[in-house]
Amino acid sequence: MLIVMKKGSTPDETARVCDAVRAIGRTPVTVVIDGREAISVAAGNPPLDAGRFEGMAGVHQVVPLEAPYRLAARDARPRGTAITVGGRTIGAGGLFVVAGPCAVENEEQIVETARLMKQAGADALRGGAYKPRSSPYSFQGLGPEGLRLLVVAREATGLPIVSEAVDESSLDLVAAQADIVQIGARNMHNGALLKSAGRLRKPILLKRGMSATLDDLLMAAEFILDQGNGEVILCERGIRTFSQHSRFTLDLSVVPAAQTASHLPVFVDPSHAAGRRERVAPMARAAVAAGADGVIFEVHPDPDDALSDGRQALVPGEAAELIAQLREVAAVLSRKTEVAR
Ligand code: PEP
Ligand code: MN
Repeated sequence: MLIVMKKGSTPDETARVCDAVRAIGRTPVTVVIDGREAISVAAGNPPLDAGRFEGMAGVHQVVPLEAPYRLAARDARPRGTAITVGGRTIGAGGLFVVAGPCAVENEEQIVETARLMKQAGADALRGGAYKPRSSPYSFQGLGPEGLRLLVVAREATGLPIVSEAVDESSLDLVAAQADIVQIGARNMHNGALLKSAGRLRKPILLKRGMSATLDDLLMAAEFILDQGNGEVILCERGIRTFSQHSRFTLDLSVVPAAQTASHLPVFVDPSHAAGRRERVAPMARAAVAAGADGVIFEVHPDPDDALSDGRQALVPGEAAELIAQLREVAAVLSRKTEVAR
């Protein structure tokens, strides 16, 4: 980090900044750039907080030269993180497909969907037992019964299950049954929940908050990693913009950006971004073309009767066709990578 002093700042002000640097256990090195004094502080652990120095007397500008996250940064694992779930690898160049309903509704719905998605070549089944909803009057999920039904579906098909924890009390219940625990967009900033997820030994699918920057998402991942859980999957699910033609704006540019900034695998959820079933497949194909390590989308045997998010759910036939297309796009990309080598 470079702390650049104002022209005309006093030696006393520089000394105070140097003292503040020493107070956090770091060594200040004073340099002169273009006639201004600047204090250089080497990168280290923990990462430096620019805000600590910005308001100090005599400081003109603080230029961070390192990311505010350390464990999530690509440098921490330059070759990338690979996570094994149900015998399949997430990351390391493969494509991991998760399909299933927004919410678990009953045994027939979840087991039938699981069977069809297994046949279609999905790698995991999604289904919410606890639902974070935009309205308190909407279906909130079946809770423990939903988790029990997911286990029934896993037993029937062998598909690993992905399910969301909405708070600390549901976290342990979900973690006891699910193979991947989802932390949703609305909870991305919930530091207490992230820390608790960091103490689990289960992969965490961490969705990007709808108004979160990439740095915000990576700092949220840092909370989990810092507690010792190294298995975090980042997930783009659409952000709020001025665009009104879709539920959220799917920010596919974040896929390569996140893969450069971090070693963590990156998934894309086209369903919650698109909000309409006819837009899910194009966005999912684009996500794989952009290099996503995985795709998670919603499918329901009878979307018109779905208790949540029916408008964006594919029917199983459409989902099967999409999974085949996603595998084709991924195969073209891996052939290209091989040729490039
Ligand atoms: C979900 O996956 O069902 C969900 C509610 O996702 P998000 O947190 O992205 O809105
Ligand atoms: Mn949903």
